[in-house]
Amino acid sequence: MATQGYQLLIGGERADGDAGSYDIVNPATEAVVAQAPEASTAQVEAAAAAAAEAFPAWSRTKPEERAALLNKAADLLRERMDELIPLVQAETGATLRLTQTMQVPTCIERFRRYATGALEPATIPLPRREMPSTPLAPGGLMGAMVIRQPVGVVACITPYNFPIVNMAGKVGPALAMGNTVVVKPAPQDPLAVTVFGEILHDAGFPAGVVNVVTGSAPETGQALVASPDVDMVSFTGSTPVGQAIGEVAGRGMKRLLLELGGKGAGIVFDDADLATAIGTISSVWAFHAGQICTAPTRVIAQRGVYDQVVAGLQKASGRMTVGDPLAPDTVVGPLVSALQRDRVESLVRRGVEAGGELVAGGSRPEVDTGFYVAPTLSAGCKPDNPAVQQEFFGPVVVVVPFDDEDEAVAIANSTEFGLYDYVFSADTGRALRVARQLRTGNVGLNTAQRNHEAPFGGFKMSGVGRDGGSFGLHAYSELQSIVWPG
Ligand code: NAP
Repeated sequence: MATQGYQLLIGGERADGDAGSYDIVNPATEAVVAQAPEASTAQVEAAAAAAAEAFPAWSRTKPEERAALLNKAADLLRERMDELIPLVQAETGATLRLTQTMQVPTCIERFRRYATGALEPATIPLPRREMPSTPLAPGGLMGAMVIRQPVGVVACITPYNFPIVNMAGKVGPALAMGNTVVVKPAPQDPLAVTVFGEILHDAGFPAGVVNVVTGSAPETGQALVASPDVDMVSFTGSTPVGQAIGEVAGRGMKRLLLELGGKGAGIVFDDADLATAIGTISSVWAFHAGQICTAPTRVIAQRGVYDQVVAGLQKASGRMTVGDPLAPDTVVGPLVSALQRDRVESLVRRGVEAGGELVAGGSRPEVDTGFYVAPTLSAGCKPDNPAVQQEFFGPVVVVVPFDDEDEAVAIANSTEFGLYDYVFSADTGRALRVARQLRTGNVGLNTAQRNHEAPFGGFKMSGVGRDGGSFGLHAYSELQSIVWPG
C-alpha cells in the first residue's frame, strides 16, 4: 500500500481527512511534528459502515487465520519499530527510554498475546441435565453449551498517554474474538495510530475489518459512538467523557467497556519497608510525568512514619531529572499539552489554598520550551482537599496522615475513583485484610509490578468491565446458549 503521509483508513482505502488537517505539536519543543487528518462526520460514518459490512465474513474466519494475521501484524510492528519509536516519542513527549521500553514494544506483546487468545476455546460445554416436562416441551435428558460470539463492530477510543499500546489492548482482543473495529485515537497524538492502521492493513486483514479515523473536533468521537453500525464502545479516558459516552451508548444498548480515571492510594503502614514504599511510589510518580491512571498519587501514611515518608518523597523528587525527553538521564518529561499543564497547576493551587503544604515543586522548571510541571509534593492534606479527591494526571503526589487501619481504609475509599491502590506493610495478613476492604479494581501489595493476565479495571467511577488476559478477551464477546434434547 502506497503511503502518502498520515491518513485515515476506511474500508481498506487510505484517505485524507475531508475536513482538512491539523497540527500535531511536540510537547517538549512546541514545534509542529506533522499534520494529522481531520475526518468529516461522513467519513466516520463510512468507517463504521465498512466495519459493519466486513463483520459477517470476518466473524466466520477460522481462529487460526485470525491468530496468523495478529502474529503477522506483530512481526510488521517489530520491523517498523525504528520508525514508530521516534514518532510516538515526538507526539507524546514521553522520554525516549519509556518509548523504547514500553510505548512500542508492549504493543507488539499485546498482539502476540491475543494471537494466542484467538485460539482459546469459544465453546463452553455444560453437563447434560434431566429436565421435567413443561407445557412448552417434553422432559428428558437435555444437552447444552455456551458459545462466545463476537459482539460486532467495536469503536475503540483511546486517551493520549500510550497511543498505540492502549489501541493494541483493544484492537488485539476485539479482532481475536472475530469483531471488526473502528479506531479513534486521542487528538493530541494520533500519528503512530495511523501507521498502526497501515501495518494492520499490510498484514492482510481484509478491507473494513480495521478502520482508523482521526480528528481534533469533538464530533469525531461523538459521531462514532452514535453510529447505529457500532455495537460496542471500548473506551479508555476520563470519567466525564466515559459518562457522556455511556449515556449515548445506553440509548443504542451498545456494549460498553469503560476504563476511566483513577486516584490511586498508596497506604504506608508504620511497619512497612520504607525504602520499598518510597521507591515504588516515586517510580510511578515520575513515570510518563505522572500521566498514568494507576499512579499512587494519594500517599496515606501512618503517623509513626509520616515524617519519614514525606522526607523520603521530598528527597526522591530532588533526584528526578526534569527536561529533554531525548536525554538519557531524563526521568520526567513534559505533559502532553499546555492545557494539561494548566489543569495540573490549577489543581495544585487549589490544594494549597485548601491547606496542603507544598514540600517540593509547585512551579515550572526553567526550560525554554515545553509543557513541564516540576515533580510536586504536597503534605499535610485533609482527606477532603480537592488535591486528594480529584485526578491530576501529572507529576503530583499528596500526602495524608492516618492513625489506624480503619481510618486508612476510609480515606482510601473516600474518592469517587476505584482503579488502583497500593498497600505497604511487612504484615502480609494485614496487607491482605486491608486490600479486601478497598473499593478498587486492583491492589499492589508492596509492589507496582502488574500481572497482565489479571483482569484490569475499575470500581465506582473508574469504569465498567475488565481488560487483560482472557478476561479482556471475553469482554469482546456475547454469550449465546444453545440447548437440545438428547
Ligand atoms: P479524555 O479527554 O477522556 O479523551 C479520551 C478520548 O475520548 C479521546 O480520544 C477523545 O477525543 C475522546 N472523546 C472525548 N469526548 C468524547 C465523546 N463525547 N465521545 C466520544 N469520544 C470522546 O482523556 P485524555 O485526557 O486523553 O486521557 C486522560 C484520562 O484517561 C485520565 O482521566 C486517565 O485516568 C484516563 N486513563 C485511564 C486509563 C485506564 O485504564 N483506566 C488508562 C489511561 C488513561 P476528542 O477529545 O477529540 O473527542
